Amino acid sequence: MPLHVLDHPLSRHYLTILRDRSTATPLFRETTRRLAYLLVAAAVSDMPEGQKAIDTPLEPTTGTALGKPIVVVAVFRAGLGLIDAALDLLPNARIGYAGVQRNEETAEPIEYYTKFPPMGDARVLILEPMLATGGSLAWACDQVKGKGATDVTAVCVVSAPAGVEVMAQRHPDVRVVTAALDRGLSDAFYIQPGLGDMGDRLFGTA
Ligand code: URA
Repeated sequence: MPLHVLDHPLSRHYLTILRDRSTATPLFRETTRRLAYLLVAAAVSDMPEGQKAIDTPLEPTTGTALGKPIVVVAVFRAGLGLIDAALDLLPNARIGYAGVQRNEETAEPIEYYTKFPPMGDARVLILEPMLATGGSLAWACDQVKGKGATDVTAVCVVSAPAGVEVMAQRHPDVRVVTAALDRGLSDAFYIQPGLGDMGDRLFGTA
């Protein structure tokens, strides 16, 4: 499974702000958005491109356009924190939602809502900020592949080795783009050192 860990001073700077427990919700939300620009740009860095003939104010020239449509799938709830940045960069993207909650004891995913646009020929970007056990992301990949997706990239803020391993076993074709590969998981399946509960920190529900 291709794993791409961002290597950029800005991504490390933003991630440090997110990890810091003293970062309050407004700055946490803004910083998530800034980091999401870098993650989404990396997630489309290998996109096919087509040629496009255009006229500049001075003369005709040839530019490029993205070679396939994009579908962005936000995994509830924390994936919503990345969606504005994804749509800023990819305004023509179609949007899907995957509602999944984890069983707090087993960390198994419990599905409660899905809604997807057609996605057969699209690059599908799954926004799942915390790749912890891998259960939710692997489940989301099952869902989009069940709807015909063949080109899937996961966008994760922080990843744990256990989640990466699950993805390598269950979805070896899915590329994972992440800002950090952390040490491991706590007994309650939180990523360590991690940044805590991403949904709570984004939405102020802690
Ligand atoms: N979900 C989170 O929000 N944080 C973690 O560390 C793991 C899963």
